[in-house]
Amino acid sequence: MNLIERCPDGTIKYRNPFSGTECWYTPGRRHRPVHTEGTSVPQLLKKVDVEGYCTFCPKNYFYTTPEKSRVINIENFLQIQRMLTANQIFAQPALFRRISNLFEIISIDYWKKNYSYSLTSQQIKMKENYLSSELGREHVRSLLEHITRRSSQQKARIEDSALYELADGFFGGAHDLILPQFHFRPDAVTDHDLYSTGEMTAFEHHIYTVLTIDALSDIYEQNRFVRFAGVYTNWRRDAGATLEHLHRQILGLDFWGYSIGRCVRQVSANPEVFNDYVNYLKNQHNLAICENDYAVAVADIGQPFSTVAVFSKSSGCRPFEHTHREVEGFSEILLSIHAALGSGEACNEEWYYPPRDSDCFFPWFVLIKWRKNRHAGIEGTTRLYIDTYRPEEIRDMMIDRLHLLRTSGKFNSLLIGKNGIREKRSLKYNSKKSS
Ligand SMILES: [Zn+2]
Repeated sequence: MNLIERCPDGTIKYRNPFSGTECWYTPGRRHRPVHTEGTSVPQLLKKVDVEGYCTFCPKNYFYTTPEKSRVINIENFLQIQRMLTANQIFAQPALFRRISNLFEIISIDYWKKNYSYSLTSQQIKMKENYLSSELGREHVRSLLEHITRRSSQQKARIEDSALYELADGFFGGAHDLILPQFHFRPDAVTDHDLYSTGEMTAFEHHIYTVLTIDALSDIYEQNRFVRFAGVYTNWRRDAGATLEHLHRQILGLDFWGYSIGRCVRQVSANPEVFNDYVNYLKNQHNLAICENDYAVAVADIGQPFSTVAVFSKSSGCRPFEHTHREVEGFSEILLSIHAALGSGEACNEEWYYPPRDSDCFFPWFVLIKWRKNRHAGIEGTTRLYIDTYRPEEIRDMMIDRLHLLRTSGKFNSLLIGKNGIREKRSLKYNSKKSS
C-alpha cells in the first residue's frame, strides 16, 4: 500500500483508497488560524427555563413533526418511549428525540409513487394514535399548512378529511432527525456557547448514538425498498447546517452511493483492505490519535477536508449489529474527537457501513471532516483537493487537546497516540459474513 507521495518541493500527495479522492498538502498556502471564534461579537444570553431559540428547541415541539420516539430520564432510569400523543410530549422534556424531517430530501411520495410503498401497520397505528386527539390533529394541520404556504404561497385550511393521508410523510417517511434537548450548553454565558456533539458527556453521547442506531434499524425494518440509510451531521453553517441546534440526520436511499459502492468493491477485491489501511496509517505512518478495545481513531488521508476516521474493531459490521458495550466504546472514541475539535469548528460527521443488500462486509466507520475551508473551481474541474494541514498536524492537534481534556477528568480510559495497541489486524470484521 503506497498512498502517500512526497515531492522535493514539500508538496505531499495523498490518495484515499475508499473514496478515490486525491488531496495535496501544499506548503505555504496556509492562511487561516486553526481555531476561529466566529466573526460576530458574542452576545450575553438571558437565562430561560425552557429553551425556545429555534424550531428544534423544547419550547417549540409543535413546530416540528410528531415524535417517532424519544429518550427520557425517569428517576435516573433511561427509557425510549414510542407512539406518544400530542398531549404527552409536553409532560416532560426529552433528552433526545427522533422526528421526521419536515422538509424531506426524499419525500414519502417518492416511495409511494415509484415503489407503491404503503405505510406499515406499525406506522398506521402510530398515525392513528396521534391523530386521535384534537391537539394532535391541530399540530399536524398547522405543519401541513406551513408546508403549503411555503411551497405555493397559498393559505388554505386543510380539512380533517384530507389530513389523514397528507400526514403520511410524518409517520412513514425515511428521512429522520435526532435532536438533543439543548440548544446552548447548560452553562452557556454567550450565544457562542452552542451545545455541540463535543459538549456531551460520555453518557449523553452514548444515548444519542443508541437512539440514532435504533432509528436507523427501524427505517430498514419499515421500508424494505431502502438499500442504504445514510447517517450524517452538518455542524454549523459552514458545514451545511440550516439551524444552529445540533441535529443528526438519517436518510433512507434506494441506492448505495459512490463511496459505499467503492468500499464494497475494495473489500470484495481484498478482504483485509480495511485492516491493511488502518495498519498503514497507524503503524507505518504513526497517525493514530486514540483508541480503546472497541474503536480506533486515526488522522485520515486523501479526503476533501482534514479528516479523522473512527473505525469499529467489532466483528459486527453494521451499527445495529454491535453489542451495547461495543456501541458504548465506539461512541466514546467518536465523542473524544468531537470534543478535541471543539464546538466552534464547523464539521461533518458521516457514517459508513455495509448496505443491507451487500454480501461483502466492511467495518462500521465514521469520518469527521473539519470544514475550515471551502472548495473552489479547481476542485470541481479536477477533483484535486488542497489542504493546508498535514495529517500529522491534525493528529498532533487532536492529541494535545485530548491530553488537555484529560486534565479535567475526561477520556481517562482512552489510549492516546503512540500508547495505542500495536496490533496488525485490529479490526475483527469478516468481509464475507457480518456479525
Ligand atoms: Zn434550538
